[in-house]
Amino acid sequence: MEDAGVLLCRYGELFLKSGNRRRFERVLADNIRAAVADLPGASVSTTHGRTLVRVRPADVDDAAGRLERVFGLVSFSVARKVAAEPDLEAIGAAAVDEARAALARDRLVSFKIESRRADKRFPVQSPEISRRVGGRVHETTGLAVDVHRPALTIGIEVTPGHAFVYGGTRGAPGGLPVGASGRALLLLSGGIDSPVAGWLAAKRGLALDAVYFHSPPYVGEKSRDKVLSLARKLARWQAMRSVTVVPFTDVQKRLRQAGPGELAVVLYRRMMMRIADAVADQLGADALVTGENLGQVASQTIHNLATIEDAARRVVLRPLLTYDKIETTNLAQRIGTYETSILPFDDCCSLFVPAHPATRARVADVAPAEAKLDLAGEVAAAVAASERVAIA
Ligand code: ATP
Ligand code: MG
Repeated sequence: MEDAGVLLCRYGELFLKSGNRRRFERVLADNIRAAVADLPGASVSTTHGRTLVRVRPADVDDAAGRLERVFGLVSFSVARKVAAEPDLEAIGAAAVDEARAALARDRLVSFKIESRRADKRFPVQSPEISRRVGGRVHETTGLAVDVHRPALTIGIEVTPGHAFVYGGTRGAPGGLPVGASGRALLLLSGGIDSPVAGWLAAKRGLALDAVYFHSPPYVGEKSRDKVLSLARKLARWQAMRSVTVVPFTDVQKRLRQAGPGELAVVLYRRMMMRIADAVADQLGADALVTGENLGQVASQTIHNLATIEDAARRVVLRPLLTYDKIETTNLAQRIGTYETSILPFDDCCSLFVPAHPATRARVADVAPAEAKLDLAGEVAAAVAASERVAIA
């Protein structure tokens, strides 16, 4: 595209994984491509450890907002492309333009130049590029060079055939590209925790589907809508494909009747694990993810977590296990799920449950209650009655 806006994307961590690097780069480029796919004429290419996104100049801000939600990206810069066969003269002129543009926005006193020469055939080495271009910017604009605490950092990257010049860097979320680590199934309730747990799992490269256990009429349609809207929030990070809504009321009642009240939460959770495993079979997910936390509520003791996990065939990931509530809440605010999570809603796990749940439920304690149910039949029936809602 002629006269395109260029966004120069950086992805640090991938370099560490030399064996997988190519695959990670490909997944990241695919995800970036998907993020800008509906911008007319957008294109994405990867060279020399950088991914370049080209869009119409009018779409640059929009594209930048999207890149801020692509996992695997560490940072990016909106850059000027210096045309074919760049020389120091053209690079210097672009750097002066960047400095002037920055001066038009802010009152600045100092700057520095950071150069990177990915094209080793370019005749001038990086420190020398910085020195010469820096001299020119200083002479033209009067800005002082300050290599320690500059108000403005002008970046220069020289690649074969092109140079890029930019006047600042924007942060991106880091982590690994979604999908690079496989697929997992998130147990998504309407609370604060599970959306954050899903976000953290996606940040480490897991593509997600969600399962939600719904207990009408004790839990209203609003709760279901709330879970779907949380899933859509996660989809903004390319992290969510579908929500499977599982009707849970009947099996919950049977579980409640089969055993003592203080074991109800653990019995519900073990059943959730079994049904989630069956849903994960359908979706090709390799792990389950929950928002469980150590000790946050009486039911979440290490003993109960072990007994709950015993019912799952897959590894159960609990990204929030060690978080304080305030840390989770802060993260929920940052990723934009908090406002939805705090809407009033009913939680199926508090249904038919006494005030004092068991804190040390062992598998042997719940076994007699579970023996009264046809577990495989319950799982099959729940899965058959479930509804899958496409999110992205
Ligand atoms: P959250 O804020 O995510 O609801 P929580 O701190 O309230 O978590 P619990 O209500 O004990 O903790 O739930 C623990 C985890 O079990 C949740 O984070 C979620 O992963 C899963 N879970 C609980 N209820 C449901 C449900 N109705 N549907 C799907 N998953 C659920
Ligand atoms: Mg909850």
